[in-house]
Amino acid sequence: MATAQRSRDLTRYQMYIGGEWVDAEASASFESQNPYLSEPWAEVPEGSADDVDGAVRAARKAFDAGDWPNMTGRERSKLLLRLAGLVADNADQLGEVETRDNGKLLREMQGQCRLLSEWFEFYAGAADKINGEVIASDKPNFLVYTRKEPIGVVAAVLPWNSPLLLLAFKLAPALAAGCTFVAKPSEQTPVSTLEFARLMDEAGFPPGVFNVVTGSSDLPGKALVSHPGVDKIAFTGSTLTGINVVRAAAENLSRVTLELGGKSPNIVFDDADLEAATNGTVAGIFAATGQTCIAGSRLIVHENVHDELVERLVARAKTIKLGDPSDPSTEMGPVAFRDQLDKVVGMINGGVDEGAKLAYGGRQDPDAGELFVQPTILTEVDNGMQIAQEEVFGPVLSVLRFSSEDEAVALANDTRFGLAAGVWTKDVHRAHRVAHRVRAGTVWVNAYRAISFTTPFGGFGMSGWGRENGVAAIDHYTESKSIWVELSGGTRDPFVMG
Ligand code: NAD
Repeated sequence: MATAQRSRDLTRYQMYIGGEWVDAEASASFESQNPYLSEPWAEVPEGSADDVDGAVRAARKAFDAGDWPNMTGRERSKLLLRLAGLVADNADQLGEVETRDNGKLLREMQGQCRLLSEWFEFYAGAADKINGEVIASDKPNFLVYTRKEPIGVVAAVLPWNSPLLLLAFKLAPALAAGCTFVAKPSEQTPVSTLEFARLMDEAGFPPGVFNVVTGSSDLPGKALVSHPGVDKIAFTGSTLTGINVVRAAAENLSRVTLELGGKSPNIVFDDADLEAATNGTVAGIFAATGQTCIAGSRLIVHENVHDELVERLVARAKTIKLGDPSDPSTEMGPVAFRDQLDKVVGMINGGVDEGAKLAYGGRQDPDAGELFVQPTILTEVDNGMQIAQEEVFGPVLSVLRFSSEDEAVALANDTRFGLAAGVWTKDVHRAHRVAHRVRAGTVWVNAYRAISFTTPFGGFGMSGWGRENGVAAIDHYTESKSIWVELSGGTRDPFVMG
């Protein structure tokens, strides 16, 4: 069982390794915090490098000696569908746990958790269609074909903002491909992944196919990504950590995909529907208290509509309701933890020091609770300022103005990131033209913040490596093998390649 007795009113959890519920080897634990109430609510194992080693060994054993990678795609598909059903049945409860851990709105987290089952259904549908190909050989005496074989043990290291959704991005295609898996949730949000493991167990996945190690620091993540028993690392988190992950992975040449930070431009032309653009800008930067990798944190707006759009945004920001994330009328919850709050407020102050003008917000909002910050709009931002170049990961909008399409595109692309972008215009020619010119992995036209299991997601530049979601994501969890079958039965000159 994932949960056991309550100690000091904290719900106590265990890790899931090799199909067993276990405490940390050193019996240590840490407390997971509820950021809205600023109090601990769960006690979670403090996993060590030894625990990580145990989890990787369990995954290794399930891969090297277990049935899982050799099952047919059809059999894996059936288990994935069973899991999808259990996830759907438990979605609301999983969402509650996520809100308790990261403070994001209950309706946002339950909405994400209700979508999860579709990720598993989609990849269940793909599991029995992972085909190689027959190669048109240039050598008539050979039949040549390829197989897509599971890559092996996958290590997933995850952030706190959307723990289970970002797990599903990785786990669903990995299971479809026949990989085994070790998940390391964020120290801020360890619980939902442990609750999810309960559903993996109930669905009947063989022991060791899915394992979870938790910890309160970067230690288990570091141990996991440098472990020689890991074949592939699927990482979502900050760009700085992503670089460290790549360095560690290089020692073992583990395969790596990275979903990292962003500084996404939201470009509004002067023919745009300003009501829709206002709504989309609010969705892009104030939803999830701005704690989203795809946050549309740079509003690049045509000079003719700059003042009107800022006015509309300020009016809407003033009405945003801060408060209890589980209250259906709340629009912005707290920032997830103290360091993050300090970073957000520090970056706002830095922007003002650099010359940006505070059009709205800019301060903590202690009336709402300890970790609340106001929705913030900074105008007169220069794209060279730190506030326009560094990810805030909070509800802070930087507004920049442009006068020509070329200038808008140049500003949008003047960033080391390239995760997402929005383009707002009624001109269909311009919409596609600009969508093509902006260097980002996702561009929304007259919309913001839509994602799907059907559609590749990932970033250009410092926003990452590879794409998650869509059928092609399965390629990140397979190795291609070419098989040459001699047909004539004859021999040839052994000293000549051919
Ligand atoms: P983070 O980089 O601080 O931590 C992410 C995970 O990495 C955590 O589990 C942490 O314990 C672990 N970790 C830390 N140091 C490590 C190391 N050296 N080796 C291995 N693991 C290590 O990120 P965060 O603060 O949890 O999440 C916020 C960041 O995630 C933002 O930058 C955001 O843009 C990004 N993010 C990106 C996407 C995307 O899909 N592109 C989605 C969500 C979040």
